[in-house]
Amino acid sequence: MAYVALYRQWRPQDFENLVGQEHISRTLKNAITVGKIAHAYLFSGPRGTGKTSTAKILAKALNCVQGPTPTPCNQCPNCEKITTGTSMDVFEIDAASNRGIDEIRDLRETVKFSPVDGRYKVYIIDEVHMLTTEAFNALLKTLEEPPGHVVFILATTESHKIPATIHSRCQRYDFRRIGIKDIQERLQDVVKGAGLDVADDALKLIATHAEGGLRDALSVLDQCAALDSGTITAVKVRQLLGLIGHEWVWKMTDALADRDASAAMLTLDELIVMGKEVRQILLELALHARSLMLYKAAPNIESVELYSDELPILEKHSAKFTHNELVNMIQTMHEAANEAKWSPEPRITAEVALLSVCRRADNASLESLVERIELLERRLSGSAAATISERAFQPQPDRAVQVPVKPKIQEKPAIAATVADSQMTVSHNEQKHEAVPIGTSNIKDVWDNMLKELLSTGKRSVHACVSQGHLISLDDKQATIQFTANFPKERTEKDDYRAILETVLAGICGHQVQVRCMLGAASPPPPKAAAEVKPKPANPNQDAVTDHPVLREAVKMFGGNIVKQE
Ligand SMILES: [Zn+2]
Repeated sequence: MAYVALYRQWRPQDFENLVGQEHISRTLKNAITVGKIAHAYLFSGPRGTGKTSTAKILAKALNCVQGPTPTPCNQCPNCEKITTGTSMDVFEIDAASNRGIDEIRDLRETVKFSPVDGRYKVYIIDEVHMLTTEAFNALLKTLEEPPGHVVFILATTESHKIPATIHSRCQRYDFRRIGIKDIQERLQDVVKGAGLDVADDALKLIATHAEGGLRDALSVLDQCAALDSGTITAVKVRQLLGLIGHEWVWKMTDALADRDASAAMLTLDELIVMGKEVRQILLELALHARSLMLYKAAPNIESVELYSDELPILEKHSAKFTHNELVNMIQTMHEAANEAKWSPEPRITAEVALLSVCRRADNASLESLVERIELLERRLSGSAAATISERAFQPQPDRAVQVPVKPKIQEKPAIAATVADSQMTVSHNEQKHEAVPIGTSNIKDVWDNMLKELLSTGKRSVHACVSQGHLISLDDKQATIQFTANFPKERTEKDDYRAILETVLAGICGHQVQVRCMLGAASPPPPKAAAEVKPKPANPNQDAVTDHPVLREAVKMFGGNIVKQE
């Protein structure tokens, strides 16, 4: 005997077994009991939520030998014929493949004849929104003056495409997406009845993935059962559905939480090598971020289905993100997932999205900006004035080679006021190397030669990575390369790349040089030749004051120029 798909074997045969649509079965049962049967019904709702099943149950309720009854017997010849699809009184029409006016004209001809076995002729028109305008008009004629023995059941997933004239002549029933719990319970019944061996978490995964459609859930279960004869586990379901899986999503979320760009890129690479789809990766990350957002907002909420309800994970990850960061992350992932649909290189889309989450600014929120402004205001007024003039007269470190370096972007906004200090520290630390300053033009030559050498020796990937940075200082012990992005910086710092660079630099400089990498917010201006350096202003103190880090920070934040007040 031919195999009958699970969803057909387990199609509900009476209103009691209709899953998740109690509001509809109750109303229909009442209507049948009191004999108020409409001429046309419109069943609308997502696919796989029981529209066709309900239509068939209604047909049986009307035509059962013991009917019309809200509880068809399912044993009389009429019921059996409807179940097997051989009834002469129940017509199932698929409007997706019979959408023209001719089919509807044929229908109008047959409508006139009385039913053969039962009391009613029932026309079930599936996907009715697919009909052409002419076909709708022809159908409308029949709906306007239907013979008393005819019941139309129009089913659609897109009720907004049904003309208002048709709408107004139908009793409308909206089918809901079926809840995950309901689907899971129904799956459990089926598993028991069909003698399958399925793990609980596998069932839950199938139920979650079905997005409210029981038919989809049963189809997946069917496929899993066909895959092999052993126990159906969550791992097998995930494989079948092409899902990424919790462990990988946790790993990626860890990387994003720690702003670890290299770990994020490596994880993405591993997933792609495993054949996972880029969009699915982004979507599951968004789902997990949503879970974290909801958990943060309402930790005790139970009715909402989460991507994972493992408390330790929710607690751990939600503590690492702010609410705004999670909202931004969800938006970024969704936008990227949409873009990946059309992108010729979806992988790049994912990389851009993941890196932008890794490089999210700590100070993006309004509160922290306000905090920074207040801090600056306090420092600029009153007590700060003394500090500024005091510091202005302190000797500045020699900056022939040093380019002022901003602190790492990772630093918290609260310490913005210490920008000045950290800059001084960086400069002083550099001095401890007893730098023998090398002219800026030399630095540029060394850098250019190094890049050329990398290319000529075939170290293309090293070149591609390193060339995203700039050599900002070089003395007889150390070369400092500044990057604006974390990923190339961390990659260059790894032993293999650094060793290559140090060898090349040693060849160019004639002595061993240690490579150091750092992050800077913006790329420094191209180094000017020594001769081009502008002469110092006449009043060195004035220059020192306007050059004070706090003032520079203020100018950057508020714009404008510093004017000397006499
Ligand atoms: Zn019956």
